[in-house]
Amino acid sequence: MLQVYNTLTRNKETFKPLKEGEVSIYACGPTVYNMPHIGNYRTFLLADTVVRTLQYLGYKVKLVMNITDIDDKTIRDSKAAGMSLKDFTDKYSAEFFKGLDMLNIKRASAYPRATENVDGMIELAQKLIEKGLAYEKGGSVYYRISGFPDYGKLSKLDFDSIRIGASVDVDEYDKDNPRDFALLKASAPEEIERSIYYESPWGKIRPGWHIECSVMAMNSFGPTLDVHIGGVDLIFPHHENEIAQSEGATGIPFVRHWVHGEHLIVEGEKMSKSKGNVFTLPEIVEMYGGEVVRFMFLSVHYRKKLDYSETFAENAKNNYLKLKETLDNLEFALKNVEDEPGPGDLETLKTLPELENRFREALEDDFNTPKAITVFRELSRTANVYLETGKNMQVLEEIHALYKRFSDTFGIFAKAGGEEVPDEVIRLVEEREEARNIKDWKTSDAIREKIKSLGYIVQDTKEGPKIKKSEES
Ligand SMILES: [Zn+2]
Repeated sequence: MLQVYNTLTRNKETFKPLKEGEVSIYACGPTVYNMPHIGNYRTFLLADTVVRTLQYLGYKVKLVMNITDIDDKTIRDSKAAGMSLKDFTDKYSAEFFKGLDMLNIKRASAYPRATENVDGMIELAQKLIEKGLAYEKGGSVYYRISGFPDYGKLSKLDFDSIRIGASVDVDEYDKDNPRDFALLKASAPEEIERSIYYESPWGKIRPGWHIECSVMAMNSFGPTLDVHIGGVDLIFPHHENEIAQSEGATGIPFVRHWVHGEHLIVEGEKMSKSKGNVFTLPEIVEMYGGEVVRFMFLSVHYRKKLDYSETFAENAKNNYLKLKETLDNLEFALKNVEDEPGPGDLETLKTLPELENRFREALEDDFNTPKAITVFRELSRTANVYLETGKNMQVLEEIHALYKRFSDTFGIFAKAGGEEVPDEVIRLVEEREEARNIKDWKTSDAIREKIKSLGYIVQDTKEGPKIKKSEES
């Protein structure tokens, strides 16, 4: 049974979705004002891992991730770039999606945008005012925290000790209580000039960040959802405020399981512009390839800090390549060996379900991907031992099928197997074979170099030539 750590209770709990067999997930998405850094993508990958794991376990899953395309930063930076808010945020939304593809992250069911859901936010604000949980002041609408006794149940912070100014916007001095937060903000003259505003019963406004997620999550799934995902830095105030807004309005629980991913740090330090250690995704994908980066993220449990360094990435790359090589060897054997029973067949067939059980148990233990990788590596060893002498097609097929189930759950080796070797490479390999048959080594070597320039390596084995994609490409 799947156990998931719930930030709300600080405990691992048996996972139980509202509707049997179906899971609703809302994950906080990007604020589209710059290139997301690798830490942001660690959280987006967490959502993908939860989705893939649940699908592997047999659940039907619906994931919704929002795009924050209006806030202080998008307004400020679009102006600096001399672009309209829409053109500016479209540009960075496109970058965000490119990044998802680099990491082979499955697309969510929907990516609602804040700017397309403002009507719902105005409605929610109105409802909260009617319930006495919100009030208008100076054209802005604020949430009245003192009206919601459960405030703080997620972050468990001691609010009396929080310094005003540390976590609260001090410039919003007209609030009844400094801790109250803005649901809707009165538009500044500069924003109105740029047509960045929405008409509301309280005048021209724009939405605050927290109310977006409450509205888009409840629009997608109704008042209660199964899983809400985000980075640990969002627990307070963002998710605390989401609870206050949603539960304040509906009176029933907003989220059943709160799942938070830890930070990514770089060589022991927090990523920051001033330290110059901020990496964007394209930068590290350029160095290691998207699947290696993905595998590296999966090699650390999501509730632990991931300490990124070159050594760490290289190590992940080596482990990834070893697993990949076994898959290549398996696929080669499936195409080329003559089916023949052997002494190791039965024992191997017996090992496979045991490995799958352990793989599933690892993931059922709060999505423990590093533990599941250990099992994957054992399967790789089992496969390699079998490949030394084993030639039974059924055994090879079963090993391969299990290998694919593991790799699909991890979202790696997506292209292996299904990827076609280009016709030109196949033709060159055939030409080279002809040259080798007449012992024309000079031509054969020249062709090998040509194949290499196309990004492929040819290996001569006793079963014939074997084509592999070269690692550099
Ligand atoms: Zn959010």
